[in-house]
Amino acid sequence: MYGKGLIKGLGVTFIRYWNTYWDDITWFVGRKGKKYYSPEGIAHRSSKNARGIFTVQYPEEKLPVPEEFRYVPFLVFEEGPDGEKNIRCTSCGICAKVCPPQCIWIVRTSDPATGRPVPAPAEFTIDADICMNCGFCAEFCPFDAIKMDHDYEISSEKRNVHNKQMLMKPLSYYAEIRPLNYAKEEAARAEKAAAKAAKADA
Ligand code: SF4
Ligand code: SF4
Repeated sequence: MYGKGLIKGLGVTFIRYWNTYWDDITWFVGRKGKKYYSPEGIAHRSSKNARGIFTVQYPEEKLPVPEEFRYVPFLVFEEGPDGEKNIRCTSCGICAKVCPPQCIWIVRTSDPATGRPVPAPAEFTIDADICMNCGFCAEFCPFDAIKMDHDYEISSEKRNVHNKQMLMKPLSYYAEIRPLNYAKEEAARAEKAAAKAAKADA
């Protein structure tokens, strides 16, 4: 029948249109709270229960991002007992090699006395305007030293070139934004340490 697809399409549009108002009415009548500008409203609109068409009132409202959301990477550091920042990166350069648009630059630290390389970056730079958020650097890093961030609010009037100081974030921040990944990595780390200890005892 001619026009069948057209009628079907219009039906979908009408259902969306109807659901938009019906959802607003049920929230209003059911007194579930505010559908906009409230944590309950955001939780509802970002869930599978959301119906119809709605907008997010950004920047006042922000939809929570899933754990695997990827934005510009950051460098993980562990805090020492005296508050020192022990960066995990050994400046091995693997991330810079695998980065498809080649937007990572690393300068390795050298021992001032001997001139020999020290496994830590003196400088670490990522051009965030070129980074395509692919996650290869985090995927290939053998030391869990570089991770993909959730912070997507980095727009500025200048070039977004992030230096080492800007890139460094504590391990606790990583655990907060990626709890499942963090738990998995810590479990693997503990298992490896136990196996090493058992081997040493044998
Ligand atoms: S972030 Fe990881 S892969 Fe990149 S240089 Fe540091 S240790 Fe190597
Ligand atoms: S996320 Fe991809 S593009 Fe961005 S720095 Fe890492 S490897 Fe390069």
